[in-house]
Amino acid sequence: MDVYTSTNLNGDNKSVNKKRICVRKCEGMSDIFEFPLKQHIGNKAAACVVKGDVIHRGQLLALQGESLGCNIFSSVSGTVVKVTEEAVYVEADDKQSKDYIPLKSEIALELIKEAGLVGLGGAGFPTYAKFSKPFESGGNVIINAAECEPILSHNIKRIEENPKQLLRGLEIAMKISNANHGYIAIKDYHRKAIAALENVNTNPKISITTLENVYPMGEERAVIREVLGKILPVTSLPLEADAIVINAETACRMQEAVELKKPLIDKDMTVAGKLTGCEKENKVHVILDVPLGKRVSDVFEMVGGLAKEYGEIIMGGPFTGKRVSLEDPIIKTTGGLIATECFMKGPEKIGLLVCACGANKERMEQLAESLESEVVGVEYCKQAMEVKGTRKCENPGKCPGQVAKVLALKKAGAQALIISNCTDCSNTVMSCAPQLGLPVYHCTDQALRAVNHKLIRKIK
Ligand code: SF4
Repeated sequence: MDVYTSTNLNGDNKSVNKKRICVRKCEGMSDIFEFPLKQHIGNKAAACVVKGDVIHRGQLLALQGESLGCNIFSSVSGTVVKVTEEAVYVEADDKQSKDYIPLKSEIALELIKEAGLVGLGGAGFPTYAKFSKPFESGGNVIINAAECEPILSHNIKRIEENPKQLLRGLEIAMKISNANHGYIAIKDYHRKAIAALENVNTNPKISITTLENVYPMGEERAVIREVLGKILPVTSLPLEADAIVINAETACRMQEAVELKKPLIDKDMTVAGKLTGCEKENKVHVILDVPLGKRVSDVFEMVGGLAKEYGEIIMGGPFTGKRVSLEDPIIKTTGGLIATECFMKGPEKIGLLVCACGANKERMEQLAESLESEVVGVEYCKQAMEVKGTRKCENPGKCPGQVAKVLALKKAGAQALIISNCTDCSNTVMSCAPQLGLPVYHCTDQALRAVNHKLIRKIK
C-alpha cells in the first residue's frame, strides 16, 4: 500500500460560532474483514466457503450468481469466521503478503469476468457486461478520468504514478471491444497527470481530451458529449453513441486482471477531512491498494486516525457520497472516505432543491435532519428527469435556470435552502436566493469545510 499526502486545497473556510452538532469518535482496531455478497449492480454472489476454512489472499469467497453477478475474492490470508446471507467474514493472519492466488482463465474478457471487476467510479456495473458485444466497425472506448467530485484524487494519483498502466488498460479495452479509437477524458487542471500520459503515449489511436473543471463533467453522458460531441437522451446507453465509458481505475484493474491475473482485491482511495493532527493544517491522503473488506475506522487509522469530533463519515465524494458508520467495510465501489466538519444548527424550516447528479432527496433529508431543520418543500431541477426510479440530467452541468424552483420553495415557507446542484446551477441559485432572503447551504459544504476547500457557490 502506498500512502500519499497533499496539503491544503485552496479554500475559504470560515469559522462559525453557531451550535455545533458533532459525532465523537470511537476507538479500536479489527482483524476481521467483511466481504458483502452484493457490491455491484446485479445479483448477489453465492458464498463458496464455510466457517473454519483457511484461505489465502486472492481466493474465491463467493461465486457470481445469475444475471450480472460478480465473483468476490479475499483480499487477505486468514480464516473464515462467519458466513451469512449477506457477507463473508475473514479473520486476517498477523502477517500478510502482497502475493495472491492468480486467476485461471486465459482469454482477456474471461479474465475480466473471473476477476469480479465492476465500475470502480461508484456505479458498480459489472465490467464484463460492458464488453459483451464488440463493435462491428468504428467504436470508441472512453476512459473517464475526470475525477469529478471535489477532494477525491486517487484516480489522478494512480495516473501520475503509473500512466503506462492506464494506457495498457485502454488498449486491452479497445482490443476486446474492437474499438477503433480510445480517449482519455481528464480535467484540464490535472496538468501533471496529462503530461505523464502524453510522455508515454505512442499509440496514434489514443487521444487525450481535456474537460472543463466544473461539476459534473464526469457524468457518463457529459463525458460522451465533451469527447464525441453527442448528447444522448436520458434513457440511452453509451453504445448508442458508439461508445463504452470506463472509469480510470477500472481500466488499470483490467490491466492487472489480464496481464497479472490479479483478481479485484484492492481499491484505491482518498481519505480526508477531520483527522488527528489536522486541526491546523487539513490534509487529503491518497492510499493506493487498500485491501477490500477493511473496516472504515481502520482505514482512517492508516492516515493517523480521526479527530475527536466530526460531523459524519461520507463514503464517496461530497456530492454523491453516502453516510456510513465506522464499522462498515470498504467495498469495490468505495472511492472516498471523508470525515466532515461538524454541522451547524440550521433554520427552523428549510427547502430542498435536488439535482440528478448530486445528493438525492433522501440524502438531503438526512442533511436537513443534521441541521435540525424541518423540510417544508422539495423541488427538483427541471432537467432532473425520472428514469426507472432514479433521476438523470438531460444535459449535465448546463443550467436551465433555477429561479422558479427557488420561488416555489420560498412560497412553501422555507427560510433557507439546501441544494445539491451542479456548479452552473449553483451559480444560478446564488444569483436569486440570497436576494429573496434565503441563505443557501450546499450538500457538499461540511465535507469541503473539513479540508478548507472552496465552497460550491458563485464562481467568477
Ligand atoms: S442541470 Fe440540474 S440536474 Fe443537471 S447537473 Fe445541473 S443541477 Fe443537476
